Amino acid sequence: MGKIKGFKEIDRIDEKYLPVRDRLKNYKEFTLTSKKSELENQSARCMDCGVPFCHSGCPLGNLIPDFNDLVYNKKWREALDVLHSTNNFPEFTGRLCPAPCEASCVLGIIDPPVSIELIEKNIIEEGFRNSWIKPVKPLSRTGKKVAIIGSGPAGLAASQQLNSVGHKIVVFERDNKVGGLLRYGIPDFKLEKNIIDRRVKILKEEGIEFKCNVNIGVDILIDDLQKKFDAILISTGSTKKRFLNIPGNDLHGVEQAMDFLTHNNKFVDNQINSHLDRFNAKDKNVIVIGGGDTGSDCIGTSNRHGASSVINFELSNKPGKKRNSSNPWPYWPFTLKTTSSHQEGVSREWSILTKKFIGDKHNNLIGLQTVNVEVDLTTGEFNEIPNSEKIWDCDMVILALGFTGPEEYLPNMLEVDINNKGNISSNSDYQTKKNNIFTAGDCRRGQSLIVWAISEGREASYHIDKYLMGKSNLPRKNSHGDL
Ligand SMILES: Cc1cc2nc3c(=O)[nH]c(=O)nc-3n(C[C@H](O)[C@H](O)[C@H](O)COP(=O)(O)OP(=O)(O)OC[C@H]3O[C@@H](n4cnc5c(N)ncnc54)[C@H](O)[C@@H]3O)c2cc1C
Repeated sequence: MGKIKGFKEIDRIDEKYLPVRDRLKNYKEFTLTSKKSELENQSARCMDCGVPFCHSGCPLGNLIPDFNDLVYNKKWREALDVLHSTNNFPEFTGRLCPAPCEASCVLGIIDPPVSIELIEKNIIEEGFRNSWIKPVKPLSRTGKKVAIIGSGPAGLAASQQLNSVGHKIVVFERDNKVGGLLRYGIPDFKLEKNIIDRRVKILKEEGIEFKCNVNIGVDILIDDLQKKFDAILISTGSTKKRFLNIPGNDLHGVEQAMDFLTHNNKFVDNQINSHLDRFNAKDKNVIVIGGGDTGSDCIGTSNRHGASSVINFELSNKPGKKRNSSNPWPYWPFTLKTTSSHQEGVSREWSILTKKFIGDKHNNLIGLQTVNVEVDLTTGEFNEIPNSEKIWDCDMVILALGFTGPEEYLPNMLEVDINNKGNISSNSDYQTKKNNIFTAGDCRRGQSLIVWAISEGREASYHIDKYLMGKSNLPRKNSHGDL
């Protein structure tokens, strides 16, 4: 694959960004376009490793050495077909995936891995630039109807798969626009929303119907849905926010990350003219509690608002820069991650637990109290370090503590089970205890990643198609359907 010995001759190149001072001026994506010749060179680093661990590292089973080889040989169009054969939306994963494929790249044992994600993003963008990506309508219709509840990446991937084999698909979304967390969680500086619109336009042209502002269980009753559709997919995400049950958590100035980010995404989309003060970080001392993607997005957004200072608290210990012996290749490396938002300005504090929020007499937040902790790496339990209490002044706290599972009203109305992790229960065929009701994405696996949501949407589609037709030709990870 690629160029024999290419990995010995060529160094890894990462995507380049606009300087921080420029990118903080607005909410646009700030990556610089890579030269095609440079990318062709980068794909030459993919070596003939024999067992490409990247295949299994990727939840979609992307055929990475194959598209690298095609890019190296300047066959971008063919590379696009290979990429699309396993991934409905490389434009999302190519921008946003933490790239477990790169963590398991064999070259990574001795050298920086192949820049797989960068190559993926450029294959898909080359496809859109050249208008190679066209709607593909099914040749015939089966007469079966499938309702998809939720239009995040899981629901969108399932809609495209199931439509491709001729079922009539209606996607119901309770928000005013399609996309799930891609639309109202992830900020534009990571994913401009015209990237979602561009893809949804194609899905519509393929024949998929989208109904926004429809909250299933509230605006459309379950009985109606069951009567009109032969199968239902629940892909409603993991939307129950985790709270911090400590004194002062109801003070003005303590906000949930998703409320803050949704508000900002609507502001950037001109749905709101100006920021509500509670969601405006301008000239405020902001503390973001919780790391992860959500915390990082709150840091980037606060800096774009013009916050006076941004601090990030993490309960866990500061990870090392390199893998330790209990976390070897090809597993996901639990090492220090520095995102583009971290680079834009934040003070990161580790092993720290927030004990209480402090307010003034008007119930406005003016600070918080913390204690340092010692985290036991094997059990995850932590002990407070005596006499380590500290008061931090702040005007705004953003809680980025993750989600505890899907909201229960819909599963309850559909009479499907919730498991002991708080997620919608299904068997290995993504089927709930009701034969005609399936589930996929964060509501099934718990809060996760876009690449997993797409993968779940594709896998569930295979099982829905098989349920409707007795067999299915839809591809699955590492297989090509039943035939
Ligand atoms: C701030 C933030 C940043 C993130 N950044 C990244 C990242 O950089 N990379 C990455 O890989 N992952 C990231 N993630 C995780 C990723 O976004 C999710 O794993 C993914 O979106 C889950 O997809 P999903 O389709 O399962 O659900 P969602 O994207 O949550 O979509 C579910 C949809 O269902 C709708 N819905 C719910 N109930 C109903 C109902 N009753 N009727 C109609 N519609 C309903 C919701 O409105 C929503 O639109 C991030 C998450 C957050 C919160």
